[in-house]
Amino acid sequence: MRMADQNRQWLLRARPSGMVKPGDFELREAPLRALADGEARVRVLYLSFDPAMRGWMEDRPSYIPPVQIGEVMRAGAVGQVVESRSPDYEVGDFLQGTFGWQDYAIVARGGVMPAAVLPKGVPLTWPLGVCGITGLTAYFGLLDLGKPKAGETVVVSGAAGATGSVAGQIAKLNGCRVIGIAGGAEKCGWLTGTAHFDAAIDYKRENVARRLHELCPKGLDVYFDNVGGEILDAALGNLAQRARVVLCGGISAYNEAAPPPGPRNLMNLVITRSRMEGFIVIDYLARFGEAAAQLAKWVAEGKIAHAEDIQHGLENAPQTFLRLFQGKNLGKQLLKVADPPIAG
Ligand code: NAP
Repeated sequence: MRMADQNRQWLLRARPSGMVKPGDFELREAPLRALADGEARVRVLYLSFDPAMRGWMEDRPSYIPPVQIGEVMRAGAVGQVVESRSPDYEVGDFLQGTFGWQDYAIVARGGVMPAAVLPKGVPLTWPLGVCGITGLTAYFGLLDLGKPKAGETVVVSGAAGATGSVAGQIAKLNGCRVIGIAGGAEKCGWLTGTAHFDAAIDYKRENVARRLHELCPKGLDVYFDNVGGEILDAALGNLAQRARVVLCGGISAYNEAAPPPGPRNLMNLVITRSRMEGFIVIDYLARFGEAAAQLAKWVAEGKIAHAEDIQHGLENAPQTFLRLFQGKNLGKQLLKVADPPIAG
């Protein structure tokens, strides 16, 4: 294997104003530097694209520090160790970590989420999607906060995305009736045809509030929200008694310069004695292993269908990121950067 001596890196060039655009990033080539003791060099193979990355581009306090102007754009990734001066990582190991938008990353022991060696036999993309952050978010958000019971009605927004699709299917495995809300006929067809949701609402074509009343005449018991805005408001307007509203994300507002007005139907939480609660998946770090193993088992047994949208080429990182906000992805949005350089 011959390693390149240059590293292509996408840097954050400007804080976005409104919708993120390719010009907010800048591609640079820099020479690879020599490794210090304790470091290993990773060839990035797959990048994960997550709506939260839009928040990391803003200069404001959040659950992790913002990406600074001039820094490599932060992203979860899977890669292969190509050079090592670390006792923790061997050449040929496949790792998962926050490697960012670049061809090569340098890793060392430590950090909140240190690079981890992938278990053998797991497809390289699964730790970024169905068994990774999005699958784990669906698992803990739905089970710990949503507490679905057999026979209840569960509604999921962003339902054909990486998180929503898994949340809905876990609800099905718990004996619930599941309704997904997504944009477009293709996504809605995938939800009912492949992911076995009981019904789907195309929010781009249908009146969500009216359809929820038709499909859930007794109200919904669990609402797993990925989008916020008017869809959240429609769900809040149709709660059953003691419903659980799980606030996972609010992508409809991620590119807004200022937060839009809040939901109008909040009083319905009072009337129905319901609970609305947010969460951040990294709080469940200690239980990631247990949940990832369960998710992998469900996928292997064919109990969870998972879709991956794989784009190609590091040069396409900004456009791939934009797909999330354009609703172009079905399932987990990934970018393939390279094939593994070292044969297993
Ligand atoms: P995803 O759902 O795979 O992709 C984003 C999807 O959002 C798009 O495909 C699009 O689907 C939908 N969307 C985009 N703009 C929209 C708008 N204006 N209104 C309604 N829908 C819109 O992404 P993901 O990674 O699984 O993330 C889903 C949500 O989970 C995000 O809100 C994310 O921030 C959140 N999340 C939270 C945590 C946590 O710890 N709380 C962890 C991970 C992810 P349509 O075609 O259907 O519009």
